[in-house]
Amino acid sequence: MSESAPPLRNLRAGPATPDPAPAQVVKAKAPENMAVNKVLCDACPVLCQISEGRLGACDRWGNVHGKLQRMDPVVLMTRPGTVLVPASPQEWDGQLLHQNAPVFVSGVASGTTYPDYKPAPFIVASRQQGVDMVTVVTESIFSYCSFKIKIDTDRYLGPEQATVRFAGEAVGHVTTIEYGSQFLSLGGVHHLTGGSRREGRMTCELMERLGNQQPVDLVIEDGASLRVQAGKAPVVNGVEEQRMRVGCGSAAIGIFARQWFGHADEVVVVDDHITGVLSEHQAGKCLDMPPTGIRIRGRKSTPGRYFQVANPGTGWGGTDIDDPLVIIEGWDPKVARPGLRLLMVSTTGEHAQYYVLDEALLARAVPMPAPLQAVVDRIGENCEPSLVTVLFVGGAGGSLRAGVTENPILLTRSIKDLLTRVTCAGAPAYIWPGGGITVMVDVTRMPAGSFGSVPTPAIVAPIEFTMRRLDYERLGGHTDRIRRLEDVWATDPHRVIPWIPHNPWPLESLR
Ligand code: SF4
Repeated sequence: MSESAPPLRNLRAGPATPDPAPAQVVKAKAPENMAVNKVLCDACPVLCQISEGRLGACDRWGNVHGKLQRMDPVVLMTRPGTVLVPASPQEWDGQLLHQNAPVFVSGVASGTTYPDYKPAPFIVASRQQGVDMVTVVTESIFSYCSFKIKIDTDRYLGPEQATVRFAGEAVGHVTTIEYGSQFLSLGGVHHLTGGSRREGRMTCELMERLGNQQPVDLVIEDGASLRVQAGKAPVVNGVEEQRMRVGCGSAAIGIFARQWFGHADEVVVVDDHITGVLSEHQAGKCLDMPPTGIRIRGRKSTPGRYFQVANPGTGWGGTDIDDPLVIIEGWDPKVARPGLRLLMVSTTGEHAQYYVLDEALLARAVPMPAPLQAVVDRIGENCEPSLVTVLFVGGAGGSLRAGVTENPILLTRSIKDLLTRVTCAGAPAYIWPGGGITVMVDVTRMPAGSFGSVPTPAIVAPIEFTMRRLDYERLGGHTDRIRRLEDVWATDPHRVIPWIPHNPWPLESLR
């Protein structure tokens, strides 16, 4: 039995709308001239008229024996450790689903609610630790959505704001460089709807593939060509990236200064952003290292830290250089001396060379002593594997909320008040602060194949809202559409997959 909602006094649901003749909308009316062997799909604005045995334009809905049908069964996910099939059929008592919410109904293949005021396809009741819960499940159509791509690499991918192309079409742009990673922003309503039809189609295809953890080939204007795939190493100009740098050149100096001390008189960590010079750096000063007279090209920021020592590229430390000595302008002959020991190394340790100054103060490459090689190897050991991270960002603060409640602002508030949990195919969604319900989710935490598209063009993505039944009643939810989890299990075609490890169970306590 559910708890009953208290009187509406002090609640934010607002006054009930006088509605002597409530609207009953079950299905869109088919056009009068539609052939009798067709069915009308009203799951998106395209309104496909589908002949018997055929699929609609998105391949998600079809005409099966004269009936409109979502072609994939809804995906249910089992809680870790749940055994839904008894070892012996004789033991089956039909009560397995009465456990502590052992199954989660995901939005994958759940169907959509277009034109939005219809209740969500699944509004499911379950019990969790004695509390009645409701999960509202839908496959939302997102025009306002994009993918943020984090690419762990030092290599130069292209100038900030450069256009990113997929199949020749503009689909996004290069955005900021973060610590050891470069970011792209791909997709979005501007490319989906604001350009040519082909730009919209290619953007939609790219987004669907990214969301479904498939590889995509991209070209950055005045920059690199890339292959990116969620959870895999990036491929830059045909070369698979291996290491994410340990830090910038200055950070590497700080981390390893003590380990170099006594084995080299000077260490330069070559970096496209901040090249570090040990003897001048505060780390070297604290070790009382004497000056070496080295003169580095580029713009000095602070002692031992240099910007713009070379152009960006795919060489040493994300610069365009293959010979690190080109960043050394010279040596002060009053300070430098023959025999001075110099190590030059990149921020990943992938490039390293040891030198000794000769009588003319020219750096001569010589084999690297073992203690220095050990520190170079340690730089590599401290690098993490380079990965591509793909985050889906979608605006769920619009009309899809009407599938949850007749007063959408109450859903927004309930989420902000942490009374309602938002997940995408069971994956925890980060909700951006501020207005609306802007969700962000790591696609590798979702089952592969969670995303679809419609030719408007727009992306279809699963989303679930889970809350206590009492709170659902309070926010004006479609309580007349609540179904028991057991009934969904018994009557709806479904596909069961295991829960994705590391995702929290969405029905656990919400606060
Ligand atoms: S594109 Fe797909 S969802 Fe849209 S009307 Fe056609 S079959 Fe239905």
